[in-house]
Amino acid sequence: MIETQIRAAGPISLSTYMRLCLTHPTLGYYKNADPLGASGDFITAPEISQIFGELIGLWIAGTWQALGNPPAIDLVELGPGRGTLMEDAMRVISQVPGLPAAIRLNLVETNAALIREQQKRVLQYQPRWITELSHLDDSTAPLIIIANEFFDALPIKQFQKAKGVWHERLIGIRDDQRSWGLSPTPLPAETLPEAIRDAEDGAVWETAFIAQEVMGGIAERIVKRRGALLAIDYGYEKTQTGDTFQAIEKHGFADPLAHPGKADLTAHVDFEALGSAATRKGASAHPLQTQARFLSALGISQRTESLSKANPGMVETLDAATSRLIGTDQMGTLFKCLCVTSPGLKPYPFDGSLPEA
Ligand code: SAH
Repeated sequence: MIETQIRAAGPISLSTYMRLCLTHPTLGYYKNADPLGASGDFITAPEISQIFGELIGLWIAGTWQALGNPPAIDLVELGPGRGTLMEDAMRVISQVPGLPAAIRLNLVETNAALIREQQKRVLQYQPRWITELSHLDDSTAPLIIIANEFFDALPIKQFQKAKGVWHERLIGIRDDQRSWGLSPTPLPAETLPEAIRDAEDGAVWETAFIAQEVMGGIAERIVKRRGALLAIDYGYEKTQTGDTFQAIEKHGFADPLAHPGKADLTAHVDFEALGSAATRKGASAHPLQTQARFLSALGISQRTESLSKANPGMVETLDAATSRLIGTDQMGTLFKCLCVTSPGLKPYPFDGSLPEA
């Protein structure tokens, strides 16, 4: 299918390749199987420990309070996977007086297999499944939006510097194989971010224009209705060069061009660019925090301890899971938390109460 398109119309952009591989209506990776968990291709934080979702639940409760306990809010999760995060979060939320009655739960998902998984876990909270945020535009209630490992799955474009000039990297066919090449059309230097203009020949720069567009739409709605977005993902703090496009298949790295539709394709998130997409729409983007700092501020150690006391046989498993989430050599610093809010809103721990990192 991809070959046919390339043969008919020439080399394609990486964003087109990613879109086809991930969301093609019948062959796309995110249209079919359940990719998550031990038997799938990769494992995510909520699948590692129930504490992850529980602490997000706590964060949602704190944010609702920071908003002044509004009687109605739209709680939204982007790409809820198997629904594990929201199941754990809602268990905590259910104990907060006034909050369960205020929440309308909305899950943004396009994968039918994952919707079935989500139904198993959160049906009791009567969620609505939607395919895009605009489906909520009938309401004016404040928004609280959660996105764990969502932005990394949106298509990117790559550019490479050759002989002092930037060109888009394209996917074509050479010797009957999918292969990388450069677009002959150079990119005007003034359209590139300052941070990368002086890069060496061979450097690769990535731009997640779709993620930025999605963020822009979120920010506009948050500014209008008040509220907050919490995005957790692997990525880097400042716009920089580097090829982070990767394929994960059966818990290992694979060649991203080898098995279209069979591997998860992602790229690291440029949090500076993502934050700017929000501030351009008038929203506030709070200083980024590492996952370790964020989860520690919300009490991951205390929660691990109290769960361990209640389940003495599980101490090692619980400790190992917590180390995986906050260990600096594991997910603790690679994963970062971006909080975007309507102006003036400062949910804990983005309220400046933590000492400087
Ligand atoms: N948040 C979950 C799942 C992460 S995997 C977890 O932490 O376990 C990425 C999720 O985003 C999946 O649910 C996938 O179906 C969804 N997704 C990916 N691309 C999407 C798109 N373009 N539109 C809507 N959902 C998408």
